[in-house]
Amino acid sequence: MAAVKDSLPRRQFDVVVVGAGGAGMRCSLQLAQAGLSVAVLSKVFPTRSHTVAAQGGVSASLGNMSEDNWYWHMYDTVKGSDWLGDQDAIEFMCREAPNAVYELEHFGMPFDRNPDGTIYQRPFGGHTANFGEKPVQRACAAADRTGHAMLHTLYQRNVAARTQFFVEWMALDLLRNDAGDVLGVTALEMETGEIYVLEAKQTVLATGGAGRIWAASTNAFINTGDGLGMAARAGFPLQDMEFWQFHPTGVAGAGVLITEGVRGEGGILLNKDGERFMERYAPTLKDLAPRDFVSRSMDQEIKEGRGCGDGSYVVLKLDHLGAETIQKRLPSIREIAIKFANVDPIKDPIPVVPTIHYQMGGIPTNIYGQVVSVANGHTKAVNGLYAIGECAATSVHGANRLGTNSLLDLIVFGRSAGNHIVQTHPERQHAHEPIPQSAIDFSIDRVNRLETRTSGEKTQDVGNAIRVAMQHHCGVFRTLDLLNKGVDAIESLAPQVESIYFKDKSKVFNTARIEALEVTNMIEVARATTKSAANRLESRGAHALDDHPDRDDVNWLRHTLWFSEGSRLEYKPVQMTPLTVDSFPPKARTF
Ligand SMILES: Cc1cc2nc3c(=O)[nH]c(=O)nc-3n(C[C@H](O)[C@H](O)[C@H](O)COP(=O)(O)OP(=O)(O)OC[C@H]3O[C@@H](n4cnc5c(N)ncnc54)[C@H](O)[C@@H]3O)c2cc1C
Repeated sequence: MAAVKDSLPRRQFDVVVVGAGGAGMRCSLQLAQAGLSVAVLSKVFPTRSHTVAAQGGVSASLGNMSEDNWYWHMYDTVKGSDWLGDQDAIEFMCREAPNAVYELEHFGMPFDRNPDGTIYQRPFGGHTANFGEKPVQRACAAADRTGHAMLHTLYQRNVAARTQFFVEWMALDLLRNDAGDVLGVTALEMETGEIYVLEAKQTVLATGGAGRIWAASTNAFINTGDGLGMAARAGFPLQDMEFWQFHPTGVAGAGVLITEGVRGEGGILLNKDGERFMERYAPTLKDLAPRDFVSRSMDQEIKEGRGCGDGSYVVLKLDHLGAETIQKRLPSIREIAIKFANVDPIKDPIPVVPTIHYQMGGIPTNIYGQVVSVANGHTKAVNGLYAIGECAATSVHGANRLGTNSLLDLIVFGRSAGNHIVQTHPERQHAHEPIPQSAIDFSIDRVNRLETRTSGEKTQDVGNAIRVAMQHHCGVFRTLDLLNKGVDAIESLAPQVESIYFKDKSKVFNTARIEALEVTNMIEVARATTKSAANRLESRGAHALDDHPDRDDVNWLRHTLWFSEGSRLEYKPVQMTPLTVDSFPPKARTF
């Protein structure tokens, strides 16, 4: 049934946060504790957000296991990003990390402990002491369920602070006035099928990643890039969307993640000859080189005929760690291996392949989480809109994220955005600004077109076509020819998204409607990714182009900005100047 545009139910809040993952809930906690009225929307119950699946840890230079400091962490992050990360944001994050983690500890997060009572830290890819000299143990862990522990801790704190949760609500579109300020969102209550206008003085996008635009992914099924779709439709750019991280160790055939923490605890990758091949590719860091590097090395082994079994995977061996360590430090990994790979890692190695895992790009923001847009070459913060967590490009991860830096990103910038909203909007007593009817109409017309269509393409078919095209054209290794074909393939699917039709028009918990709306977001992310990738003529971080195998700092040390309208690209400089310390100039990235 089509919604009636001018009589939609309305609710007013100081702040609407879209997303109840680690980023959304760290931000909402700050806001609710300051006494603001906060609505947090989530497609699923908050503690089912993808953050719950994070296994390995959250990085901070606590130095509990050996000497460490934030400046080394900063260096590793800049180098990990292949120099595309903004150094002001990276300094901010690495400096804040110990405080942010101790804060979680004081909130009651159940970290693993050392015998002296301090937080246990494990080694992780790319984390080193003394500017790359040797691996350092920097990842603070709660067994292999760190995200689970973090998300439940944040949820409980939010309940105590009286954050209002809107569970099983799907945000549809951003609402803007003529000046371009954001004044809230339209949202669908899944239980009733009603659409609401949620008015907000500030709107925070915390919708997580979009790994589900690929066929093989470690991501939850809800990770369809809704926040990116909303931002793109509202005319905001998406930044650095060519950079997607393949995680080296997804279970072959299933995609389920095997945390890098396994290699942190001493697990090693072997090819069919039983060779520990990472010693050849990365003599210093070996199996703990950054993810882009390990993924490509694995792909190379498989391509050159040294894959195991049918030749399509390599194996991760951990039996030498002993049953006790595996059961204590990696209990969920053992369970995953038994359930999804049919092997018990106490005895046998796990078959693994690189699998899409994390989006480095996203909605561009500054270190306060404010979304920044560009007009005539000038960047400016958008009034009323913030983005945090995986959907944002702040940009601390640049062209490649270091493991455990994402959970850190959530809590540092979630908190920073919350503080910025509290500090810069003391006038929150002022009334909500009127929302132009045309903004609401845009969103409702979009839904009504979908709702009233009586024939067309099936959601599942169009969704699958997007996933297959991305998997085929945008893999671990890329070629210009493949990427350009990918641009065409995805652009040719865009009209099909416009003709999606579903038969069941019932209102109550109609998942067909939700899936169709998700595909309208997925297509924007896929368009941004293919177009940005086909135009970056170099190899940097996760973007490895066969035709241009080298990094090109002269022409490409810059961020890509993609605009939905006309699939237009612009570029902006990387922030090479940190806040207080000297810049780390680009150099060759070897491990
Ligand atoms: C399997 C796995 C393991 C990982 N392990 C680690 C690790 O060990 N360390 C690390 O640092 N990183 C890890 N990562 C990455 C990290 O977990 C994620 O980047 C991070 O948790 C994302 O958090 P988020 O708050 O941005 O979004 P999410 O936790 O994904 O939450 C997104 C929220 O947005 C909501 N939402 C989305 N769209 C809408 C909409 N339209 N309307 C309303 N709500 C919406 C969802 O319901 C959800 O509540 C891992 C990722 C995966 C997939």
